[in-house]
Amino acid sequence: MEHHYEKVEDILVHEGDDYAKFMGSVAPPIYQSSLFVRPTTANGIPEHPYAYTRASNPTVEAVEKKIAALEGAEAALCFSSGMAAITSAIMHFVEKDCHVITVKSIYGPARNFLCNYLPKKFGVKTSFLSCEEMEHIEDFITEDTRLIYLESPSSGVFRLQDLEYIATLAKEHGIGTVIDNTYATSLYQHPLEYGIDISVHTASKYLGGHSDLVAGAVISSKEICRQIQNNERVLYGACIDPHQAWLLQRGMRTMKLRLEQHAKNALIVAQYLKNHPYVKEVYYPGLKEGPQKHLIEKYLKGFNGLMSFVIDGDTDAAKKFLDSVTCFLNGCSWGGFESLAVSYTVGYSQESCDAMDCPMNLIRLHVGLENVDTLIADLEQALEKTRK
Ligand SMILES: *Cc1c(COP(=O)(O)O)cnc(C)c1O
Repeated sequence: MEHHYEKVEDILVHEGDDYAKFMGSVAPPIYQSSLFVRPTTANGIPEHPYAYTRASNPTVEAVEKKIAALEGAEAALCFSSGMAAITSAIMHFVEKDCHVITVKSIYGPARNFLCNYLPKKFGVKTSFLSCEEMEHIEDFITEDTRLIYLESPSSGVFRLQDLEYIATLAKEHGIGTVIDNTYATSLYQHPLEYGIDISVHTASKYLGGHSDLVAGAVISSKEICRQIQNNERVLYGACIDPHQAWLLQRGMRTMKLRLEQHAKNALIVAQYLKNHPYVKEVYYPGLKEGPQKHLIEKYLKGFNGLMSFVIDGDTDAAKKFLDSVTCFLNGCSWGGFESLAVSYTVGYSQESCDAMDCPMNLIRLHVGLENVDTLIADLEQALEKTRK
């Protein structure tokens, strides 16, 4: 029999497992089949609910149960990537010529979708708000507003939005709300509890956790998931494949342990950078300081390994740093076991940085699961080279 769990550790380890259904296997089988045949029983009801993997698959369902339970939600749907989950959630709410409100500092491809793709193809108008403008978001609502798209904390410098306030306001105006909850993770923030309609994730980051898969998830009520399942997921066809779903459930079993270690290492790195004479600014919510301290304390129950910082120097100094790190690999993703350093806005114009609500020459670090002294030594030698 399948059990349901309440404690985070139990959900991560066991939710979705079904020993009777899966012949006692502790790891679910990979149902590597596109098609499921269904003999009809005497009363006309099919023996099982599966027909075709674009619509549903038992391996996929097992991980969807785990994700929904982890975020305290009724349902979840997995997708072939985080962007597939994001665009499906957005398309659930938008219609031709409508208006969308979002923040400037959202993930680049999501910004591209709202800034270029939807306006050009469907006449959608999007207002991109700065962190400060977000505090009086009410002024930006029009009668055409159908969606408020949030990312909290957002990409770049991790700006938070007041989810409870925004969800309440959106409900009063009959506007849908979607949040990209990837940074906080399902461990540390449950947006649906504040009234947000849909939480989306890329599972390619901490949910998978091993830099070996690309996947995404939509988390919402049963009814919204049913609609997205029958429309965006089945029609666009961006379903997760059973093999990725299996890797994802495997990665999730250790998610809490991984996150705790990422956060432990990251806090040491953030404090080291903050106290370093060659560093101008460090952005890491886990330092629990700055103008958004109250939002950090209200919304984030834990932290992770992603941070960013600005060197006290010019673009060349930032480039020199990136060329000099060795344990921190140069790469753009995050959320895996490995430490990464990448340009976020190094060499970008002031105008581009303003559009992203980010400072110039921002470097992003992902602090992995390596020995933290090794990581600090690498940062030390690379920072030293920026002055030579
Ligand atoms: C990486 C990322 C995505 C996109 O995920 P994919 O699985 O690569 O499509 C979305 N949101 C955030 C915040 C990300 O960092």
